[in-house]
Amino acid sequence: MKSINNELSVHSGPILISGPCSAETEEQLITTSIQLAETKKADVLRAGIWKPRTKPGSFEGVGAEGLKWLAEAKKETGLKTAVEVANVKHVYSALKHNVDILWLGARTTVNPFAVQEIADALEGVDITVLLKNPVNPDIDLWEGGIERILKAGVKNVGAIHRGFSKYGESNFRNPPQWQIPIELKQRFPELTLICDPSHICGKRDTLLEISQEAIDLNFDGLMIESHITPDKAWSDAKQQITPFELKKLIEQIVIRESKL
Ligand code: PEP
Ligand code: MN
Repeated sequence: MKSINNELSVHSGPILISGPCSAETEEQLITTSIQLAETKKADVLRAGIWKPRTKPGSFEGVGAEGLKWLAEAKKETGLKTAVEVANVKHVYSALKHNVDILWLGARTTVNPFAVQEIADALEGVDITVLLKNPVNPDIDLWEGGIERILKAGVKNVGAIHRGFSKYGESNFRNPPQWQIPIELKQRFPELTLICDPSHICGKRDTLLEISQEAIDLNFDGLMIESHITPDKAWSDAKQQITPFELKKLIEQIVIRESKL
């Protein structure tokens, strides 16, 4: 399997994917992307436009309109773009608007029917696909999702570790259970592995600690949510940071010899 590191990263450090949990308005997305580009740390702009919310009545994303904003942000900043897809309709819309990277969210990787339909739609398409772990700590289901996308002939496939759901109290929104992504890497030694500290932590004050742990464990990159006014975000407000705070966070990460 080909490693996707070189495709994603424009610098020698870890790959950094950042941007808002949700695209909200054109101005919010473009301003975020400009500020991210100014950090000179980010490689890829992420934004959710179809949002899988736990409860009905929450903001469920701006929909396909947001793809035009992503394309505009790419034109403006040169950043690659990434969007979450949960069904075939999303895939075709994203491809039509030249999104560079598609990711499957935790609530999609958990569903083999959905993953297979997406895999079939991607047959013969030259694109990068990242699969978040399923919400539950099921490594075989995560592996199976990756296999489905690989079998469709997609060459640039990677995984995103976003932690695993819990019942009851925890300092984490989704406890990391590091042994699972570590084992996944043993199963797919060439796989690009990205950590998503935002959805693991669910809040800002532990983002650096989790990012550092991921880098120490030899992860290839980080996906961290950023927003121009995080407290006013329409989804995941507690865990987002400004692009300027992101820059400071990345600068604090120490690159040392891997623990593995
Ligand atoms: C997201 O990235 O905003 C998201 C919905 O993540 P997850 O699928 O990890 O919950
Ligand atoms: Mn989010």
